This record gives sequence, C-alpha cells and structure tokens, in this order.
Amino acid sequence: MTEYAIKQPPVVALPIAGSDALFPVRRVYCIGRNYAAHAIEMGHDPDREPPFFFQKNPSNLDPSGTFPYPPHSSDVHHEAEVSVMLKSGGTNIALEEAEAHIFGYALSLDMTRRDLQGAQKKLGRPWEIGKAFERSAPVGPIHPVSETGLLNEGAITLKVNGEVKQEGDLNQMIWKVPEMISYLSEYFELAAGDVIMSGTPSGVAAVERGDEMEIAVEGLGSFTVKVV
Ligand code: MN
Repeated sequence: MTEYAIKQPPVVALPIAGSDALFPVRRVYCIGRNYAAHAIEMGHDPDREPPFFFQKNPSNLDPSGTFPYPPHSSDVHHEAEVSVMLKSGGTNIALEEAEAHIFGYALSLDMTRRDLQGAQKKLGRPWEIGKAFERSAPVGPIHPVSETGLLNEGAITLKVNGEVKQEGDLNQMIWKVPEMISYLSEYFELAAGDVIMSGTPSGVAAVERGDEMEIAVEGLGSFTVKVV
C-alpha cells in the first residue's frame, strides 16, 4: 500500500443519477464565449474565432445545491452551462470519434466573480481569481449518455427566484461538443474523469444571498442552487 507523507486529499467524485457509483473528476475545462448572444453582451465579436478555454479545479465542483457567496466580490454572476463528462480520452481525437468519449452530462453553473475577472482582463492576466474559487461550479447529478442520448440541441434556461434570466438552445453553441473535445485533445491529453463546461447563453447577471437559481435543460431535468 502506498504511504503518503501527508494526509491524502479526497478524490472529488460526483453523483450519477440512478446509480450508487460516483464519477471521479480529473480536470475541468471551461470554454469562453460559446454562444453568440453572450459574446455580444460581454462586448465581443461573435465571429467564429478559435475557441479558448480556462480551467477550474476539480474541487470547485459542488453537488450540494448551495452556493456560498464568495469573498472579495460584489458582482458574482450566474452562467448556466451543460457540463460534459468524459469516460475516456487521448490526444488528437478526430471529430467523428469525439462523441464516443462522452460518459454523460450534468446541469452546472460557472459562477464568476465578474468584477475580479474584469480587472484581470484589463491587465491581460489569467482569470483564475474570478473563475476558479471555492465551490464556484455547482453541478447536478450526472446523466449517462446511454440514457439521454447525445445532447446537441434543446432549450437551456436559468431562472432566478422563478424569473427567467438566461435562455438559449444547445444548438446555438458556436463550438459544438465534439469540436471542443477534438480541439482540446490537440493541446492537452484528455482522459477519463475530465469535465468540459460548454459555455453559457446570454443573460448572465448578478446574484444576491438568498437567491434561488434553477437551471433546466431539455433531457436533463432541472437543478436548483441556493445562494447563501
Ligand atoms: Mn462560462
């Protein structure tokens, strides 16, 4: 048995709908500006430039259904996104092979300290402080692709306190899920346990303590997260 010099950090593992088994997380990739209307609302050209990604940490994923308002920000935004979980990976994955690596999908939120992200953008610095903070990615149970089928279209909505804030369709993604998998695999080695957050439609906005965020996607049901 391996002996560790310090206490071994826990494996980050997410619940799977209809199963007692958990999904262990290896890495978390997030695409930026993947819906044209959201690119425009953030002040960018929606033309199909090469995709770009940032990362969150596996331990930022939080299935608890509560989101503690983070410190050092007064402008924390919701970004409703579908997360894609991989069961296998590799490098230079061909587009037509990409979907074979999908384990399943989950409803998720890319919570963002927008004020801190904006300051980093201005300085040309990385976004971690705005994006990869504690519990910054609430995530619902994973739905295996064997049950949902491939999800390339369907309404995605986010309500805050019952009011629709974000609305779009998965078919509006600028970079489709197989394209993201193939592209990432040219730059990184993808593997089982990797998670790709697939971008958010327009309508991102600030939340306050006490707000209830409900994300819903056709085929994945809904997931509610309370800001505390
Ligand atoms: Mn996002």
